[in-house]
Amino acid sequence: MSDVKISVESNFEKALSFASDLIRIPSLSGREGEVAKRLWDEMETLGFEQLRVDEVGNVIGVIPGGGQAPPIMFNCHLDVVAEGDHSEWDYEPFSGLMSGGFLHGRGSMDIKGPLALQTYVAASMKGQSRGDLIVAHTVFEECGGWGMEHLMESKIVEPALVIIGEATDGDICIGHRGRAEVEITVTGLAGHASVPERAKNPIDLIPDIVAGIEEIKRDQKIDSILGASTVVATSLEVLPESRNVIPDRLTVVLDWRVLPEMNQGQMIEQVRDAITRQTGSNLEGFEVKVATATETQCSYSGLQRERDSFTPGFLMDPNDPLVQVAASAVGKQGKEGPADVRPWAFATDGGWTKGVFGIPTLGFAPGKEHFAHTNTERLDIEDARWSFHKYPDLVLALQNHLSSSNIV
Ligand SMILES: [Zn+2]
Repeated sequence: MSDVKISVESNFEKALSFASDLIRIPSLSGREGEVAKRLWDEMETLGFEQLRVDEVGNVIGVIPGGGQAPPIMFNCHLDVVAEGDHSEWDYEPFSGLMSGGFLHGRGSMDIKGPLALQTYVAASMKGQSRGDLIVAHTVFEECGGWGMEHLMESKIVEPALVIIGEATDGDICIGHRGRAEVEITVTGLAGHASVPERAKNPIDLIPDIVAGIEEIKRDQKIDSILGASTVVATSLEVLPESRNVIPDRLTVVLDWRVLPEMNQGQMIEQVRDAITRQTGSNLEGFEVKVATATETQCSYSGLQRERDSFTPGFLMDPNDPLVQVAASAVGKQGKEGPADVRPWAFATDGGWTKGVFGIPTLGFAPGKEHFAHTNTERLDIEDARWSFHKYPDLVLALQNHLSSSNIV
């Protein structure tokens, strides 16, 4: 253990400076190529084996372990959200500047800082790790997680456990709600506004649709850990948009923060039932379609896909021994006792690893959630140092647990 600690200590500063480099390379979803290249070079230098970039552009490497424990996968993402107006930042968003005890800039916390830490922790554990450490940093996390879905489907890595580096402020995070965009599209008959009797105006159905949405809201379940599933109308569009034309198309968009047990089919059925009930005979002459919204995504590696606007949720049982082992191994920063165990408020790639593919998944990383996606994004360097030192303890404890439970 002490050898690991010494090696980890000497690598922290290098990890921070690598994080700075990564921040200087903008990488919106679908444009992660340059950051992927920089990461590849670093991983090659650090001695990662089986280094590869998969079809969709994820970067994957392995630090081989002693073969006594099943593989653990570290995961962060390569993309960041847009930085917005540079003049509204106190520090240039792509400077990667360290000042006042913080690493600043877009991606400092979400997630290039933690990405650099995870990558260096894995490399530092060479020769100490009881099992393989897979490092897989994925694309498109900020747009539904195409990278992780692809990685899991391809089965080129098959970890027994995934540790995600999304901000937990040193806690152990065990899940989050999913998010879906559901579209209700009503088609009628367009016409001139001067002769409304010749048209079928979908706007006339709005009261029934709103009543249907209210019915769905009342039906949402509450989870004692993740909170309530929520659904809300966020957009209303008509086509054609001319103000003297009765439109033939109305689309209402629902933003649905959904509990992990609910799938897209169930959501669509629930909406369809409620709308049919509320509209009743008013529906005559109209057609209603309910579907998950879709978006065409293009990866920097040249793949193009029409993808559902759906990010799955997940939840680990807080009493799962893996969660307990993780919380004890990490402990509470500056205090006695195990780390706090809680869900994230936002979605992560864990929705794919655990929610869809069933692989146990935990989150552990420095960083306070409220800085994410803002123009004050920053990573507290002391918090980063603390979690960097805790990572090997976490990994070794989880490996011990995984290997002993395998023997049983
Ligand atoms: Zn993130």
